[in-house]
Amino acid sequence: MAKLGRELAAKGVKVINLSFGEPDFHTPQYIKDAAVDAMEKNFTYYSPVSGYPDLRKAISDKLKRENNLDFAPEQIVVSTGAKQALANALLCLINPGEEVIIPTPYWVSYSEMVKLAEGESVFINATVENNYKITPEQLEAAITPKTKLFMFSSPCNPTGSVYSKEELAGLVKVFEKYPQVYILSDEIYEHINFVGGHASIAEFPSVKERVIVVNGFSKGFAMTGWRLGYLAASKEIAAATDKLQGQTTSGTCSITQKAGLAALLGGLETVHQMRDAFLTRRDLVYGLLSQIPGVKVNLPEGAFYFFPDVSSFFGKKTAEGEVINNADDLCIYILNEAHVSTVTGEAFGNPDCIRISYAASEEELKEACSKITAALAKLK
Ligand code: PMP
Repeated sequence: MAKLGRELAAKGVKVINLSFGEPDFHTPQYIKDAAVDAMEKNFTYYSPVSGYPDLRKAISDKLKRENNLDFAPEQIVVSTGAKQALANALLCLINPGEEVIIPTPYWVSYSEMVKLAEGESVFINATVENNYKITPEQLEAAITPKTKLFMFSSPCNPTGSVYSKEELAGLVKVFEKYPQVYILSDEIYEHINFVGGHASIAEFPSVKERVIVVNGFSKGFAMTGWRLGYLAASKEIAAATDKLQGQTTSGTCSITQKAGLAALLGGLETVHQMRDAFLTRRDLVYGLLSQIPGVKVNLPEGAFYFFPDVSSFFGKKTAEGEVINNADDLCIYILNEAHVSTVTGEAFGNPDCIRISYAASEEELKEACSKITAALAKLK
């Protein structure tokens, strides 16, 4: 979609891009200043594989302060984005043929990373009717003797769904019965949460030892290009991922790490300002999308995406007589007709939906929604 959007833009068409998974805010100035300072102070050499000790200590303190989680600095491995932390965990844990349970819709890379680890993805379908969250019964039904891991994100990309502490407790009751199952908890959208405090499944002592918490700086601190993330896990898992990373990328960029340290020490004021802006946009877009006939939309509680069910348009025809067969066709139609780029739900394991990011200005969002509304009304 990004490529098609660029091609249209090259022809002089103004395309509104709602397909990106990154905040449209600049990185806060105090973080950029710390990076300049790091260069001036010559933090330009190789860093320890797991990250600088002061950064790992600051992450350990953050997990205690904000999440009430006890992870010592040696249980933390800093990586090149949360993406590498996820990949490290999967490559270290999964043996060929072992099963990884993933609720759908899920972030695109999960199932591809499972393939790289030679595991098998087992999907549990979460639907818009249940706010895209799975139930304990669904989880239990998916567990087999081959299950090694359950992986999920909360707040979720692409749905924005947030599991409450009570909902996590329901899942934990199931995990207590299956001590061989590890849990990979992707908390990268932690700070973009509109319903209050973030809950981590690692808060439950009965499962904490087998939870791998993954988090990072890309979303909350608007630092996507800096490539900084981490995992917190048992000493054994942390040591294994350190070993793997030592033979692949080594420690992530030294300058980025110093910027990340400043981010953690700088408080959450700018983070909350960005979250509040996302909340205003969420309410704006929800109001507009929920008025479009045929679009089934829920109210996301976090992240910066809507994931509406658009299956009622499948089988309809464009003015030129072309049939919209699926979400792929609809995304291309919306791009060509409304000049708005979105992403097909197929990529996230739900072919009835499309993902709309609201990491864009309020003006762009209003214009995009009104153009999408007009384009969909033309389908017969
Ligand atoms: N997990 C989820 C759910 C994401 O959406 C993303 C980024 N799109 C990542 C992990 C990776 O984040 P990072 O930029 O830190 O690698």
